Parts: sequence; C-alpha cells; structure tokens
Amino acid sequence: MNGSDVVIIGRGPAGLLMATLVAESGGRAMIVADGQGSLPLWGGQFDFRNYNDEGKPLKDPFAWWTRQPDHPGGTVSGAEWNGWWDHLRQLWHRIGIPTTPRVPRKNTVLLTPLGRLRPTFLAPQWHFTQSRAGPVTLVSIPGLMDFQATAAAQHYQVETGQAANVIEISTPPSWHARWQPLQWAWFLDSMEGRRWMLQELRRVRLEPDRPLLFPQMLGVEEVEPLMQSIAEVTGRFVGEVPLLPPAIGGLRIQRRWERWLKRQGVRFVSGRASEISRRNVLVLTNGRRIPAGHLVLATGGVLGGGIRVCPDGHLEHSVTGLEIGSVSTLSDLGRAGFAQTDNVPIAVGREVGDCDPDRHGDGGAVILWTVHQAYQALAHHDAQAEER
Ligand SMILES: Cc1cc2nc3c(=O)[nH]c(=O)nc-3n(C[C@H](O)[C@H](O)[C@H](O)COP(=O)(O)OP(=O)(O)OC[C@H]3O[C@@H](n4cnc5c(N)ncnc54)[C@H](O)[C@@H]3O)c2cc1C
Repeated sequence: MNGSDVVIIGRGPAGLLMATLVAESGGRAMIVADGQGSLPLWGGQFDFRNYNDEGKPLKDPFAWWTRQPDHPGGTVSGAEWNGWWDHLRQLWHRIGIPTTPRVPRKNTVLLTPLGRLRPTFLAPQWHFTQSRAGPVTLVSIPGLMDFQATAAAQHYQVETGQAANVIEISTPPSWHARWQPLQWAWFLDSMEGRRWMLQELRRVRLEPDRPLLFPQMLGVEEVEPLMQSIAEVTGRFVGEVPLLPPAIGGLRIQRRWERWLKRQGVRFVSGRASEISRRNVLVLTNGRRIPAGHLVLATGGVLGGGIRVCPDGHLEHSVTGLEIGSVSTLSDLGRAGFAQTDNVPIAVGREVGDCDPDRHGDGGAVILWTVHQAYQALAHHDAQAEER
C-alpha cells in the first residue's frame, strides 16, 4: 500500500482487521466510528461455518467452503483460508490473545451458558472448547443470572451423556447483589480479588481430573495469570464459558487489539459518517471533512448499521433513508480486479457477502474473506497506479 491514508468507517472486527493489514504493510490507517462495534457483544470465538443449509452442525468447514461454487466466498481456496486463519491466529498471539498453536483442521465445540454444545473454529484459550465431550465441573457464582450452573450441568449431562457436577463459591466482602460479569471481572483483576478467589478454591472439594469451568468473568486484563494460579491451586484444567452481552471475551479482544493498533500508529476518530463524496471525502455529522486515499466501509449491520449498502451499490443512511454515496462491493471487484475508474469506497464485514452469520455461524469467515480480498484489491490498485 502506498503512503495514502486508508480511512475505515467502523470499529468492529472487520474494521480492526482492515486497519491491521494496512498498518502491517507500512500504510497509514484511520478508523472513524460512532460506536463500539460488535466485539463486546460476543465472546470473540471466530466461526468459520458451523451449520449446513439444513441447520446440521458441520465438522469440516474447510471442506464445506471449498465445495460452494455459487457462494461469493466459495472461490477461496483451502490454502488461502488456511493462510488467513493463520494470520489471525499469529496476530492474536502478538497482541496477547492466546489461542491454538496452529490453525485447527476441524470445528470444535464450546459450551453455551445453558449447558448446550455449539460448534466454533478459532477461539481464545480462555474459552473451554473440546473435540469430544467429557466430564466437567461447573462453578456456580452467587447472584450471576447469566449462568445458572445447575441447569447448565443438567443440560450438559442430557446432551452428552457425560457427568457434570457443580461447585459453589461464596461472595467476597465487597460484593454487591448488583454485580454482573463485568463487575466480577474488574474485581478479579485486583490483587484483593485474586487472593480471595484462590482462597475460596482452596476450601472446595473437587472431583478428580475434571476441567473446572467458570462463567466468563475471570478478569478483563489479568485473566491469564489468574487462570494459571487457579490451575496451580486446584490441579485442574481451567476454562471459561462465554456469556451473553456485554461479553468479557470480546471486550478483552477489542481492548488488546485497539491498543496494539494505536501503537502501530492507527488513528481513531469518534464520529458519525453522514456523507461520502465520489472523490472519497468523508463528511461527518459535525461537519468535519476527511479526505481519504481509500475509503472502506466496515459498518456492520447486525445492530442495524449506520449505513446500508443497497444491492445496486448505493449507500443509504439507515435512519433517514437518504442516499449518502455509492460503494463498490466485492462482487464488483472480482478476484484480481478492481478497475478503479472513480474513487468509490469498498464495503467489508457484515455488510457484504450474502451470508447469514446468525443462522449459519460463519461470522468470522465473512470478516476474513471480505477484508483480505478488499485489501488485496486496494494493494493491486496501488501497485498499478505506481506503474502508471
Ligand atoms: C451478539 C452477537 C454474537 C455474535 N457471535 C459471533 C460468534 O459467536 N462467532 C462469530 O464468528 N461471529 C459472531 N458475531 C459476529 C457477527 O456475526 C458479525 O460478523 C460481526 O458482528 C460483524 O462485524 P463488523 O466489523 O462487520 O461490524 P460491527 O462489529 O457491527 O461494526 C460496525 C461499526 O460501524 C460503525 N458504524 C456504522 N455506521 C456508522 C456511521 N454512519 N458512521 C460511523 N460509524 C458507523 C459502528 O459504530 C461500528 O463501530 C456475533 C455478533 C453479535 C452482535
């Protein structure tokens, strides 16, 4: 990428990944967003493809994707997918999000707060995932409505035929009935919280050899040292069950990823895009005008999105319905394409791809293929421009 600024609208995982690719290649990126993005709403487990069209769980998402000639993401080869997943895995390691030592070959399953199993692909190591269900111990946290350990244990036993027992811990002196997972997590980040948790666990009796599963609340910033101390004190494998929003796992990822991007020189601007000119000037509702070498829309859509990409490429304000510009989608770009005659933004992430992540469980895959292909198109365009 040449020295021109890439301005990305949106601070969700697609926007963060786009900014990462630009920064890694030595380019300058700016992220403009009017809200958090979706990461703090989910645990951060990136799905590849969890279910087939009939809703049956899939074991081998590589095989599924490479057999879909009619799907816009179906042109991606297994090697390309593997490379993109490996890039994400290595990036996460660099920015302090531990995950698997290599790209998984198959989907694994994680436990939901209801004690059900659901497939996923790449998950941070905090998450408890397994390739085959086994006996588990669930930790019941007082007052935590998001995780009913006894009900979850019952569901798990019925669904898997494996044993699941529950242990209860008490409340710390500073506890308040209003505490939700985030309050617990901040408390457990403190020295007082860590000491209290380890003391509690020394007094409970544990079944031999069962992983010890907590609801996802073992800290925001200091989760790894706490998990390691718990493992040492109890002699058990320790994992977390991701909960409903606001989700601590996604929050951890977002905080670490954004801190890292800022260290790479990526600028973050808070503001709402209200107009996009065909000359790639972004206009914010406060009147600020931001000229861009390239404009990328990573404006999501799962929560309504602030900008709607219409099938003909027009951009519509999702509240007023006003046309605010036009966009080039990946189908326009083609595989190697990007015959840019005019400056138009590119849409990535949840906005594009004809996918339905809520139904098919392919949210992570949509982010990977749309962002990498858009980035390749931009780089290709810049290389051609330099030759001219
Ligand atoms: C509850 C929930 C659970 C999920 N679970 C999973 C899961 O288990 N596995 C998985 O792989 N994926 C999961 N996803 C991810 C989901 O399927 C999408 O892939 C993901 O949310 C898309 O991210 P994105 O970056 O495209 O958009 P978003 O994260 O939605 O980000 C959109 C960004 O655009 C900004 N924006 C929009 N309009 C404007 C404007 N006009 N001006 C300025 N900024 C604007 C917003 O402020 C925001 O920052 C989940 C999502 C949610 C919400």
